Amino acid sequence: MNIENKNGVSFLTFDSFKTAGVKHGFSTRIGGVSEGVFDSLNLGFNRGDLDENVRENYRRIASALDMNYERMCLSKQTHTTNVIIVDEKDAGNGLTKPLPYDDVDGLITNVKDMPLVTFYADCVPLFFYDPVKEVVALSHSGWRGTVGKIGKVTVEKMHEAFDCNPSDILCGIAPSICKDCYEVSVDVAEEFIKAFGDSHKAELLRPSIFNPNDKDKYMLDLWAACRLVFLEAGIPEEHIEITNYCTRCNPKLFYSHRIMGANRGSLAAFISL
Ligand SMILES: [Zn+2]
Repeated sequence: MNIENKNGVSFLTFDSFKTAGVKHGFSTRIGGVSEGVFDSLNLGFNRGDLDENVRENYRRIASALDMNYERMCLSKQTHTTNVIIVDEKDAGNGLTKPLPYDDVDGLITNVKDMPLVTFYADCVPLFFYDPVKEVVALSHSGWRGTVGKIGKVTVEKMHEAFDCNPSDILCGIAPSICKDCYEVSVDVAEEFIKAFGDSHKAELLRPSIFNPNDKDKYMLDLWAACRLVFLEAGIPEEHIEITNYCTRCNPKLFYSHRIMGANRGSLAAFISL
C-alpha cells in the first residue's frame, strides 16, 4: 500500500485497486479536527468525540478520496459474520440518516456513487472489487470474523447476489495488527486450529516472542489467515494485496485498540463505484 496526502488528509491505497480505477482508501489519524485521544481524524460516532468534529472529519476524508459525503453508507459492526447487500435506499445510512440495521460486519453494493464505510482499530479491513460485474464490498475481520471466514462469506454473497466470479475479484487486506504485535490466548489459538485445520498451524501460530517461557500464549498472524480465507474462496493468489502497515506499530498514523483500549478514535475503510 502507498500513503497519499490530499489537502492535509493522509490515507492509504492499494496499487491493484488504483490500477483497476476504483475509488478507495483507508484512513489514518492525520488531517482531521478532533482533539485529545481522538486526535485528529476520528471517524467513529458515539465514542465520546464531538459529533460536529466527526462530521467535519467525514467531509475532509470524502473530499480527499473524491467521494460523495451525503451518500456514504456505514456499517454497524459487532464481530459477526453478517454481510448484507445495500442498495439505493441505503445511501446516507449512519451519516445523513439513521442506521436501519444492527450487527452488520460487511457491506456489498453495485450502486454507483454510494461509498461503503467500515470501522477499525487493529481488526483487519477487507476490500473487494469485481471490475467485471462492477461490484464493491468491505468486511471487518477481527479474530472472530476471521475464524468465521467473513472474507469467504463476502465472496459467496457477491456471487449469489451479482453472479461475481471469484477469479475476477480483487481483494485487499488493509492496515491492522501485525503478527509480531498480536498475542492471543490458547483459547483463541484453538479456535483458529479448528477453523483452519492442523495443516496451517505452522503458518498461523507460533510461540510468543513476548513470553518465550509461557507456552499458553501465541502470536497470531491475521493477515496470513485472511489470505488463506481468500484462497479458500477461490480468489487467485495474484489478486490478493496485503498491507505492510501495522496499526499497533505506528501509533502516530493509526488508532490501536491494543495500545489505547476503548478510549480512542476509529479508522475507516472506504470504497465507491
Ligand atoms: Zn505490529
